[in-house]
Parts: sequence; structure tokens; C-alpha cells
Amino acid sequence: MDIKSKIEILRDELRQHNYNYYILDNPTISDYEFDIKLKELQALEEKYPEFFDANSPTQRVGGTITKNFNAVVHDFRMYSLDNSYSKEDLLDWEIRIKKMVDGEVQYTCELKYDGASMNLTYENGKLVRAVTRGDGVRGDEVTANVKTINTVPLQLNSDYPDRFDIRGEIILPIEGFLKMNEERIENDEEPYRNPRNTASGSLKLQDSAEVAKRPLEFLMYSIKSNNLSIQSQFEGLDKARSWGFKVPQEAKLVNSIDEVIDYINYWDEHRFDLPYEIDGVVIKVNSLYQQDELGFTAKAPRWAMAYKFKAERVSTKLNEITYQVGRTGAITPVANLEPVQLAGTIVKRASLHNADQIEKLDIREGDEVYVEKGGEIIPKIIAVDLSKRPSDSKPTKYITNCPECDTELVRLEGEAKHYCPNYNGCPPQVIGRIQHYISRKAMDIEGLGGETVALLVHEGLISNYSDLYELTVEQVIPLERMAEKSAENLVQGIMASKQIPFERVLFALGIRYVGETVAKKLAKHYKSIDALMFASTLDLVTVDEIGERIAESVVDFFSSEENRTIIERLKSFGVQLEISAEKLANQTDKLKGQTFVVSGVFETVSRTELKKLIEDNGGKVSSSISSKTSYVVAGDKMGPSKRTKAENLNISILTEQEFLELLR
Ligand code: AMP
Ligand code: ZN
Repeated sequence: MDIKSKIEILRDELRQHNYNYYILDNPTISDYEFDIKLKELQALEEKYPEFFDANSPTQRVGGTITKNFNAVVHDFRMYSLDNSYSKEDLLDWEIRIKKMVDGEVQYTCELKYDGASMNLTYENGKLVRAVTRGDGVRGDEVTANVKTINTVPLQLNSDYPDRFDIRGEIILPIEGFLKMNEERIENDEEPYRNPRNTASGSLKLQDSAEVAKRPLEFLMYSIKSNNLSIQSQFEGLDKARSWGFKVPQEAKLVNSIDEVIDYINYWDEHRFDLPYEIDGVVIKVNSLYQQDELGFTAKAPRWAMAYKFKAERVSTKLNEITYQVGRTGAITPVANLEPVQLAGTIVKRASLHNADQIEKLDIREGDEVYVEKGGEIIPKIIAVDLSKRPSDSKPTKYITNCPECDTELVRLEGEAKHYCPNYNGCPPQVIGRIQHYISRKAMDIEGLGGETVALLVHEGLISNYSDLYELTVEQVIPLERMAEKSAENLVQGIMASKQIPFERVLFALGIRYVGETVAKKLAKHYKSIDALMFASTLDLVTVDEIGERIAESVVDFFSSEENRTIIERLKSFGVQLEISAEKLANQTDKLKGQTFVVSGVFETVSRTELKKLIEDNGGKVSSSISSKTSYVVAGDKMGPSKRTKAENLNISILTEQEFLELLR
């Protein structure tokens, strides 16, 4: 078989598996097998760039950087929707409709997905561009980012018109949203407020590889085309389904406003059972012929109507405001409520965010407060019922001292939160830091859990993570619920963590703002904790993607005598505090300060290997030629426009051999 057919067969196969998995929810091969096939395709595409296809399944992993999103005028304007809030509103709407069209009117009822609207253009079955709604007339082109979303088909199944637009909502399912937030909290980053904003924010990320990591979905709701053989909205949904789009099955065709009301009532009650958030229902006149007759107002179609759910709101008593201390010492005020039923769950607590928030709403203990759960997953207090305020009520005085260790709190310029500065003596900070150290993404210590850490600290057996390495089985056995076997496992798990590579140890240390990615960057740049420890803020900010806030936090961490002692202890126990010799042996500084662009096909090394060689030797790889480029490494089949550009800018072009020579 020739290479081209082989590549195409692989693409088709992967496309089908993607469809089975994401649209049908019915995978027929394991993730592992899928990965193998994908890698095979990637390797072939890399080796034979002449068969490049922008819609290949390999393009979903992203990697394109978009600096500016181009404004694009929509072929069909993206209208807004009129809103209704009651049965009367809907009956009025029906009267207006019946004045303008003849015959029976059927309605399609759909859920109103709460995300960001998206217009996709397909030509000959291939996705050619993705554009946000913008102001309705023009939006921003975000194709590279949208391509990474698995429920957006890059190539349609069959039987489609030459060119048409598909509309739908980009949403972030609740489970994925919560998981992203768990990670953010673990990395000491502010959690995202709600799925909707996170979804729309994701579309404007510059690095599409970042978008690829987010579990976004595209839920289809309409087809726009001048030459379509369908008669109704409901048929359109089915058609799109057959092309490969994800169209929620909850859509329903009904014959009267009474049935519309039933649909609304059903989903008002059951919306919290859905895997994603909705903020209402959209009702559309089903017949496309009738839709045409009805047309549009300046703002919205006359043939559609949104019904917005009221955010669920209850009032309850605020019994007490308590304060939580996080692993980094950040204080979060918490409202302890008289338990109340809200949107299917019992709510007992709500976050108050920070001191400003309490002051702004003038929230006091003993108040009757309104708690809402709208689009948001986490309930929030939105107002106080002042008519019920007790006469002896006093304004809330925000705490001045830590509720756990009584140290005076500080609040830094420009920060919303108060902090407890008692870094090494405040129990939740001490425990939280060790819990972070042992967590799965950090040192991944098997046999040791968060509660045991708390117990070990309370018993005085450890007071920081370096103490873990001196724990003995005999010390651990007397702890509550600790059998001999588990004590052995625990100690063994701790010993095993000495093999964890430097970059993860660096993350485990729990330096503020040093999440997984930053830790990797720092480890790669400095190679050892000793080098990092002596880096100044000025030096740190020269590292790619390290800003002032991170730099200051790193310097701050190492300026503490106690932290330095802990690091020395970790070192003496054999924890990996530098990049291993083996890894280092392949790394030099030879190409430091130089930027390379790699183009074409190579003989002795693959393109990926070549890039790795550059990076391992301290160079930077960039995807486009500019005045900042030091060298272009040109293989076979380098694009002529790239060559002209390099020549115009007077940039040296190296052959593969010349490059390898340079390294030697
Ligand atoms: P609004 O932003 O309140 O004017 O509501 C209009 C928006 O609702 C549209 O731009 C769509 O993004 C969104 N929407 C969500 N679900 C649907 C649906 N099933 N049909 C039409 N629009 C929807
Ligand atoms: Zn404290």
C-alpha cells in the first residue's frame, strides 16, 4: 500500500473512534490502542509532510499560538433571543405568531445550554473556520482553538451540502470544570468562578495546546444554509446528528404551548441532573417555511423564544461567620447557615470570599440572607433581608488574628485576601504543606494519606516534610488505626519518593505560584536547587514565562532560613534536588541565547528529535521566522516563502549536517 492511502486509512479509523467515543459515548477500542494509532499517524505525517491535512485527527492536540484573533464577518448574522418568563409571555408570543402564519404551528423545545455561542463553517465536509458570536455581525476567528474540541467534527460523515454554517454552544461540563478547579486549588491558583466564563475564556487562549487540555464540548443547535433540503428545525437536528455532531437528545417536538410549558416545568426541576449547566429552554417554531414568514426583528428571530429559569433563591439564617486557613495561609470567611433546601441539595455553608465582600453586602451574624444557586455550582449569598435584621445587630468585624494560631494577619497591597504569616507554626499551613508534598502529582507517596499527615503533626512526630524521611515503623504503629503492615507500607512509600525527579520535587515544595508547569520550567532552566536558590528576581524573570509575581515568591521562599534548613535535610536524605546525571549528560549550554526555526524534512534525525536537541542544548525553538531568529535549520522540502523570508532578514540557513556540526 502506498503511504498516502495508509495515512488516509489511519485518519478515517481515528475519526471513527473519536466519533464512537465522544459522540456515541461508546468506544470500541482502549485509550491505549487509540494512542498507538495516533502516534503512528503522527510519525507518518511528520515523515511525509507533503500529505499534511489541517483537519487530520492529529491536529486536535493543538500547539498553534494565536497572538491576535482576526475579526470575521458572519455569512448569517448571529441574532440574540427574546426572553420570556411566564406562561402568559408564551401565550402572547403564540398570538403574534398566529397572526403572521397560517396553519398549525409545531414547536421544537431545546435546552438553553449555558456557554459561548459558536459558528462553524464547513466546506466540502471539512471544518474551515470557527468564529465567536462577537457583536452578532462579526466575531473573532478561533479555529485553531476550536479544532482541539473533540465534539467538533473536523470531517463530516456523508451527505452534506457544499458549504454551510453550524451553530452551537461551547460548554464545559460540570465534572470537568470541578476537576480543573481541583487542580487549580492544588497549584495554589484562584479557582474559576463558573463553567460558562471558563468555557468562553478558553476560546481566547493563545496556546491551542492549553485549550486541548480542557474538556470542552460543542452542543449543536442550528444549521444555516441557503441550499438545504430540510423542512424543519427538528429535522435539522437529526441531520446534523447524522453528519457527526453532538446534538443533545433532550430536544423535543411538541404541538402546543401547553406542551411547551410541560417541557419547561420538567427541566426546571431536573436541570441539576444534567452533566452541564443550562439557564433555560429555547422554543423554536419548527417549520422552516413558517420561520421564513416570521423573519427577524432588529435584534432577534420572531420564530424563537428563550425561557429563562429563575435562579433558585431561598432565604435562611446566617448563624455564624467562621474563617478557614488554607495551606498558603490565605484566610477564607465562611457563612454557616441554618440548613436549607436549594436546587435539590441541602445547603449549610456558603463562601464569603473576603473581607471586602462582607463589607460590601454588610453581612452580619444573625442576619436573614438570600442564598442563590443560579448558573453557579457553589451557592452564594447575594443579599441581606434588612427587614429581618435583629435590633441588637452589629457590623461584622473581620478577624485581625489567625483563628488557628493567633498570629496577627496581614493583607498585601492589591490583594483581596488576608494571610496568616506564621508560615512554620500555623497548624493548617504546616499540615497543608505536607499534604501537598505527598499528593499524587507531587511526591505521590503511597500508603500515606492526608489524615495520617494531620495525625503525625498533632502527635509531634513531624513538623515539616523533611521530617517524613526519619519516621520509623515503631513510631508509626501506635497511631490510631495503624496496623503493622500499613506502617511498613507508609515508611516504604516515603523511601520510594526519593526517586521522584527534581521537577516534581520542586512542585512538591509548595512554593506559592509554583505549579506543575512553572516547576518544570524552573527545573529545566536551573537544573539544581542550589542554582535556583541563588537566583535573583532579575535573573528569574529572564526565564521563559516566569513573571515578577512568581520570581518574588521564589526568592521569598529561599530567603527563609528555615526553608533552607529543610532543603538541606531533604538533600541529606537523598531526595532528588537536581536533574539526574543521565539527563544532564545530554544537556549543554552550547546554544544558549539562540533561537532556531526548524523547517522541512530531515535525514538522520526526526523533526521532533531535532527540536529536542536544540532545547536540550539550551536553544529556543520558534515556529516562525522573525528578526529574532538566529538560525533556520532547513531540511528537504523547506517552503520557498520561508526561505525568502530568511534571506530577506539575513538569517543564516543551516543544513542538517551543518547544524549537527555546530553542536559538536
Ligand atoms: P441571549 O444571549 O440571552 O440573547 O441568548 C441567545 C444565546 O443563547 C444564543 O446566542 C446561543 O448562544 C444560546 N443558546 C443556548 N442554547 C441554545 C439553543 N438550543 N438554541 C439557540 N440558542 C441557544
Ligand atoms: Zn495561623
